[in-house]
Amino acid sequence: MSESDIVRRVAGLHDAIGGSLDQFGGHLRCESCGFGYPMRPGMAGRFTAKGWPRCCGHTMRWWTQRQIDAGEMPDASV
Ligand SMILES: [Zn+2]
Repeated sequence: MSESDIVRRVAGLHDAIGGSLDQFGGHLRCESCGFGYPMRPGMAGRFTAKGWPRCCGHTMRWWTQRQIDAGEMPDASV
């Protein structure tokens, strides 16, 4: 297998992971300052491949839609 084959395979893997992560939806939030934004399709895959967003020196927390619907996300109005 050539190096370009490997690179292509890994890129495809990220797409596959991202596609399966999209179903969780939800919201990304900094637990320190409350900054956050909704998770849109493709974002989870991009973060997985290139690095998770950070804020206030921490990795931002991902609250899935299921957790939000279940009321597990504290201060959901923030
Ligand atoms: Zn922050």
